[in-house]
Amino acid sequence: MAELAQAIEVSNLHKRFGPLEVLKGVSLSARQGDVVAIIGGSGSGKSTFLRCINMLELPSAGSVAIHGETIEMKTDRHGGLMPANRRQVQRLRSQLGMVFQNFNLWQHMTVLQNVIEVPVHVLKQPRDKAIAVAEALLRRVGLYEKRDAYPAFLSGGQQQRAAIARALAIQPLVMLFDEPTSALDPELVGEVLAVIGDLAREKRTMILVTHEMKFAREVASHVVFLHNGIIEEQGPPDAIFGAPKSERLRKFISSIH
Ligand code: ADP
Ligand code: MG
Repeated sequence: MAELAQAIEVSNLHKRFGPLEVLKGVSLSARQGDVVAIIGGSGSGKSTFLRCINMLELPSAGSVAIHGETIEMKTDRHGGLMPANRRQVQRLRSQLGMVFQNFNLWQHMTVLQNVIEVPVHVLKQPRDKAIAVAEALLRRVGLYEKRDAYPAFLSGGQQQRAAIARALAIQPLVMLFDEPTSALDPELVGEVLAVIGDLAREKRTMILVTHEMKFAREVASHVVFLHNGIIEEQGPPDAIFGAPKSERLRKFISSIH
């Protein structure tokens, strides 16, 4: 039997911003159904790593493959990399659902409009089908009653749940979460983690940057500790949290609790 393609395969990823090298050769793969948690201190490169996976940032070197298809790059005239094929980037990006720390909902659109925007206007799905999918997703995240509300009238927890519904609406192969609860008041964290926990239990493939260590230990199949742009330690959650080897990781974990 042919081996299943990895959902995500990142090889030797480097990213520099001018003189600053933020990612110094990061490799990571996730099979379908994996939940990879990425932990690490502020500035260690976690967001940049996620942003390189969905090409919001261009890697300086290395490669990213989604479902076995490598994003083709070419060298620009300054020696940097750029996508060789914009259509490919668009197509592959539509297999990734991204959830940001600050929700990033479109403020001038209702919750429902936020969720159907990409399916209707980018993926060209029929509007009534997109609405049906969106309403089902909003029910799932407990926001059906708020479908006609504008983001400004929602709590942070509700906005983030709407953002998760929006990301799911494109039926992505992989969900990418960048500290989805960091901007929330403590009493709103649980409702968002509950939704993400459900997705993990459904075996949805995801890469989750988080500071919620207890949650990461519960839901992750694999944990990666990023320090200064390299993977300092990685392994199953019980090993990472229960028996960390690196002194830096030990310090990091105790600083969070
Ligand atoms: P984390 O998410 O782990 O906190 P980031 O990936 O956001 O870390 O940032 C890693 C480093 O890269 C930081 O030093 C940050 O200042 C720098 N950085 C991130 N984005 C940019 C950018 N667009 N231009 C210049 N430096 C950046
Ligand atoms: Mg970040």
